[in-house]
Amino acid sequence: MLVVLALGGNALVRRGEPAEEATQRRNARAAAAAVAEIAREHRVVITHGNGPQVGLLALQSAAYTDVRPYAFDMLGAESAGMISYLLEEALAAELPGRETATLLTLVEVSPNDPAFADPKKPIGPVYDEKESRALAARTSWHFMKDGAGFRRAIASPMPQRIRGLAAVESLVRAGVVLICVGGGGIPVVVQADGSVRGVEAVIDKDFTSAMLAEAIGADALLLLTDVEGVFTDWPHAKGPPLRKATPALLRGHQFAPGSMAPKVEAACRFVERTGRRAMIGAIKNMSKVLKETAGTIVLAD
Ligand code: ADP
Ligand code: MG
Repeated sequence: MLVVLALGGNALVRRGEPAEEATQRRNARAAAAAVAEIAREHRVVITHGNGPQVGLLALQSAAYTDVRPYAFDMLGAESAGMISYLLEEALAAELPGRETATLLTLVEVSPNDPAFADPKKPIGPVYDEKESRALAARTSWHFMKDGAGFRRAIASPMPQRIRGLAAVESLVRAGVVLICVGGGGIPVVVQADGSVRGVEAVIDKDFTSAMLAEAIGADALLLLTDVEGVFTDWPHAKGPPLRKATPALLRGHQFAPGSMAPKVEAACRFVERTGRRAMIGAIKNMSKVLKETAGTIVLAD
């Protein structure tokens, strides 16, 4: 099987967890151990989010005032380099002898995407209400509710086209454990002359991962995060997550924008367009999720 494993940025740096180097390394190691279980039996392409990490880099960039803060295309590229390096380092220990590689992926978005006027992607640390108000007053940043706190919000346009798919496919064919579309890909807009220009945005990796999985003919798409699956009674979840669901059932519920909604929508699109399965579950349960003994399985109506 060929599987796309989308690792949550919020599972690699948990909410409220300081993004220390050692912490990121520890979480990358745990993720790599889970990936390796699957990669020993199947071909895998790894993608990852970058919400907490790109927010951290933005704060670091803003702290050095001799240089204007970097835009989010630059920060996205930095975050993808950092995260995929840590994953490759950890995978080297888990899969000795296996080649790994990372591709920095440019992803085209529309300059007219309505998301540019309505930032909905939470990034960086979680603030309490007072802190977020103080920051909003000092900066031009938008804030949004995320769980019990508030986080900075960035425009998150839909991916339209993944660039460099031929390179992805040839590396997969060569048996390389590949990491790509990190942070949802680096958002670029195509200019009139065919060149590209980066834009101030963070694409949700769930959508880019679904698009990638369809493009490379993946047998399954796993959206792996820090919760066991999709709960219909979130945030007061009492029972277990949904075990199996169709796009029609899922679309009858409302999910949190910027976190569970993009996962559910991305899973539904992959399933509807390919007839194959998508799963949403915890990183630590990854191989059980693939075997459909954990997580939420999304399957065609
Ligand atoms: P990732 O970085 O893995 O994409 P997100 O924060 O974007 O993580 O999405 C996962 C989070 O979605 C969970 O940690 C949980 O707090 C939140 N969430 C919101 N609604 C739900 C729901 N209905 N079921 C499960 N989790 C939910
Ligand atoms: Mg997310």
